[in-house]
Amino acid sequence: MTTYTEALALILAHSKRLPADCCAPLAALGRVLSEPVHSAHDLPPFDNAAMDGYALAAGDAGFAAGSEHAVGGRQAAGDAGHVSNGQALEIMTGARLPDGLDSVIAVERTEVVQRDGDTIQRIRLSEALAPGANVRRAGSDVRAGSEALPAGRSVDAAAVMLLAALGVASVAVTRRPRVAVISTGKELIDDPNQPLQSGQIYGSNAPYLVAALQSAGAEVVLCRTVDDQPQHFRQALDAALAADVEMVISTGAVSMGFHDFVPSTLRALGAEVLYHKVAIRPGKPQLFARLPDGPLLFGLPGNPMAVAVGLRFFVAPALRALAGLPPERSLLARLAAPCRVKPGMRHFLKARVEQDAQAQLIVSLPGGQESFRIRPLLDCNAWAVFPEAGDEHAAGQLVQIFPLQPGQPLALLP
Ligand code: AMP
Ligand code: MG
Repeated sequence: MTTYTEALALILAHSKRLPADCCAPLAALGRVLSEPVHSAHDLPPFDNAAMDGYALAAGDAGFAAGSEHAVGGRQAAGDAGHVSNGQALEIMTGARLPDGLDSVIAVERTEVVQRDGDTIQRIRLSEALAPGANVRRAGSDVRAGSEALPAGRSVDAAAVMLLAALGVASVAVTRRPRVAVISTGKELIDDPNQPLQSGQIYGSNAPYLVAALQSAGAEVVLCRTVDDQPQHFRQALDAALAADVEMVISTGAVSMGFHDFVPSTLRALGAEVLYHKVAIRPGKPQLFARLPDGPLLFGLPGNPMAVAVGLRFFVAPALRALAGLPPERSLLARLAAPCRVKPGMRHFLKARVEQDAQAQLIVSLPGGQESFRIRPLLDCNAWAVFPEAGDEHAAGQLVQIFPLQPGQPLALLP
């Protein structure tokens, strides 16, 4: 049987970065930069005041407390630069420092000695002023010509802020993968307004996959539910191919039962099956294939937790690679209580990670790990991964953990 490590290597070998296109930073939200962004400008673009106060020419020596200075005017944010005659200026936060002035003292560290109505004419420093104090230097945040954002960086709100400040109109980002989701099972009802007949259930895999895929940055372009007739599955596959998708995810019908027609249908279609059955739990009958025109197909078993594990540990690494992201790094947490897992299989267990008083991550494995149970997942924030060596794991032992949702950080539960 294929090991998880072998399966992952096959997935990564077949998941090539998608082409990029250019769009405005905000439209690129959630996508990955395919090229670095070099700044065309200094940020800040000019030396400016860090606070409201007075700009002075302090030179190398600075000024002592008690020194007095004539004030020759006022400089507000947005005022153009000019050359100062050496006199101090009233200055506002963000205002461009006139050439010839080099330091700013906060207004509350001065006293007005002389004024004419609203016009301040002379001040006294109540504290010493160090050379260069309270000036934000041009380029001290980002230097013109330097790499402001590397390729492979996701565009998030922080990136949008920086790109906007740099005046970047357009960035090159990897295209979102187009994905089709096909649910199989004649027991499935998609319409929540339709009462269930005997033996029927409401389908939950497709809504889960659509939600998780969208938050992982994929575009779901086709979503079909088919009964257990192989020709209907085949028709849905044809529709997915016609929709020009990069990836198809099917659920159900991939095991050894009478109605498990996914592997045979794929072979009949000329697909290359790269693995079928991986030594993992839950969801051993995982299948991965390449369809004739190139799209990848993940055949996930139908049980909801097999789908969640399939998405998290098989599909998500492919989505990262398609976006041009490096493989995800896991975290480590200490086991809250001893546990035993069967050797020979990699186990992916629903987990709850907390931080203890020593700021260490502690992982507990709630009951209800059966692959049909959905409700316990809602009390979890992570997956704990146990290697194939299996056996008894002592309390306090370090185990690998991954945030519950792909593309999202670990969120501590309330
Ligand atoms: P299968 O892999 O087709 O043998 O299905 C395994 C189990 O998962 C069965 O109990 C199915 O009823 C259930 N199942 C399959 N597809 C779905 C779905 N879309 N939503 C919820 N449960 C499903
Ligand atoms: Mg089925």
